[in-house]
Amino acid sequence: MKTFSEKVTSDFINDAEISTALSAFKTADASAIKNILAKAKELHGLSPQEVAALMAVSDPELLGELFSTAKWIKERIYGKRLVLFAPLYISNMCSNECVYCAFRARNKAVQRRALTQEEIVREVRILVEQGHKRILLVAGEGYPQEGFDYILKAVKSIYSVKSGKGEIRRVNVNIAPLSVEDFIKLKAEGIGTYQVFQETYSRKVYANVHTGGMKKNYDWRVTAMDRAMQARIDDVGIGVLFGLGDWRYEILAILMHIRHLEQKFGVGPHTISVPRLEPAVGSDFASSPPYPISDVDFRKIVAILRVAVPYTGIIMSTRETPNIRRETFALGVSQISAGSRTNPGGYSSSDGEAEASQFSLGDHRPLDEVIRDVASLGYIPSFCTACYRLGRTGQDFMDLAKPGEIKAHCDPNGLSTFQEYLLDYASPETVVVGEKLIASTLEKMDAGQKNASTQMLEKVRAGQRDVYI
Ligand code: SAM
Ligand code: SF4
Repeated sequence: MKTFSEKVTSDFINDAEISTALSAFKTADASAIKNILAKAKELHGLSPQEVAALMAVSDPELLGELFSTAKWIKERIYGKRLVLFAPLYISNMCSNECVYCAFRARNKAVQRRALTQEEIVREVRILVEQGHKRILLVAGEGYPQEGFDYILKAVKSIYSVKSGKGEIRRVNVNIAPLSVEDFIKLKAEGIGTYQVFQETYSRKVYANVHTGGMKKNYDWRVTAMDRAMQARIDDVGIGVLFGLGDWRYEILAILMHIRHLEQKFGVGPHTISVPRLEPAVGSDFASSPPYPISDVDFRKIVAILRVAVPYTGIIMSTRETPNIRRETFALGVSQISAGSRTNPGGYSSSDGEAEASQFSLGDHRPLDEVIRDVASLGYIPSFCTACYRLGRTGQDFMDLAKPGEIKAHCDPNGLSTFQEYLLDYASPETVVVGEKLIASTLEKMDAGQKNASTQMLEKVRAGQRDVYI
């Protein structure tokens, strides 16, 4: 088969257009900003010029309006649910030289390990017994002898685990870009989202921080989603490693990447991840990022993405502290990781954590504590995997999300999966907070939604599992 990579071009990141937009909107006129925010509420997204104007906002009152618009949009489209997942690092072997990452090939400070399939099963069992239903498989770009088959077997191993009433219902994957042929094989294993972060869209910065291995090839990476979508992986997740370059440039480049995918495939990415560079063992670079992102700018980034691309999920990891996570839930984050370890084998043993982790975590709390916190803030902790299993992916998902209809599924499915968690895994303190949240959420629903949710909750309380609409 002819590989798609031969045909695809990467000229959709248009530096000239980005520079023009950035220099034309260095200051923000209050009435123009208000108009842009009003337009954002129509839920059709914003142009790069409008986004450039929002990025220039610094006046506290206007910032407050940006944040409240983001919150309004988030609740309008997704309701109150916040989806939870756990990353599963299966290997820290890597042949690349990303100067910011502890896993880079020449870093002697890290002990290398690729989990066996038995070890993967053991890790997954622990996550299932904590109550997780979604896993993000993560690996460096350097597989053991069997090559890419290792990843395919790992996905199979994850789905094979059953423990008590639980199992993993959606495996998302964050691994290096593949050929179309390999993406087809990955899709055949039943993955949910394929994620890869461009890290930086600036070719110059990219070249400076990726000094060896396959990842040096900017074009191969930036065209990964074209190949994934050509292989019919409907849900793809993009992202930038914030701190490497100017965040304003990166946001506009993200919009161009999205525009390219929408024009070519009729649908943009399912999610955007917003990692900030964190300290990593053996990387001085990671401890002093060239473009550090302040907490205020980080909140701005989340809010601007929410108003600019309202239908795309925003993922935040445990790189961030509990406080930042709490603040950004309201601004548009729709998925979070919880109880994470970033060293292979980290769920079964804390030995060697410091010597084998990818980066430092900001949130060390166990899943149950995160859930209690999220619920006490009024968000529904959700383990829902319904869309992907009902085939509501890619264009079908967007068709539902665009008019705001996905909320009619997300909130009831969020409640039923949260109820499962409360019955099967939660601590007594979390049960108290959680049951209160379920009752108050039902009260706020319209009659149709309340009725659907109540019936689903009754089924779960009667012992049925995996109840969704
Ligand atoms: N190796 C594959 C790749 O690079 O695409 C996938 C896995 S890699 C472990 C996942 C992501 O971790 C990278 O895309 C990068 O954005 C992020 N990462 C690496 N070093 C980091 C650091 N010091 N702080 C925060 N995130 C980091
Ligand atoms: Fe390897 Fe990915 Fe880390 Fe780069 S970011 S060194 S490719 S694991």
